[in-house]
Amino acid sequence: MAEGTPNPTTPEKPQAEKQTNCLGCGKPLKKLKLYYRNGKYYCTKKCWRKAIAKIKAEEAKKAEEAKAEEAKKAEEAQKAEEAKKAEEAKKETPAA
Ligand SMILES: [Zn+2]
Repeated sequence: MAEGTPNPTTPEKPQAEKQTNCLGCGKPLKKLKLYYRNGKYYCTKKCWRKAIAKIKAEEAKKAEEAKAEEAKKAEEAQKAEEAKKAEEAKKETPAA
């Protein structure tokens, strides 16, 4: 018992596996009533649904942002392509 070696310099490990709060409402999980779904814990099915809705909303937002980003890139690429073509056309046109 007395051989406890304190490790003040040991960095705290991220306790990703020990989930203490509900992902739906953020409240601390009570051991008596848990709703387990896809490796995560929630207080109730309601909280699970809430969390799912939240995740989906976030994913939709991300997808939307990614889409916008892609569209922007495509537009820029097209502009660059057009500029290149215009430049080439200029070069090919014999100066009269
Ligand atoms: Zn909850």
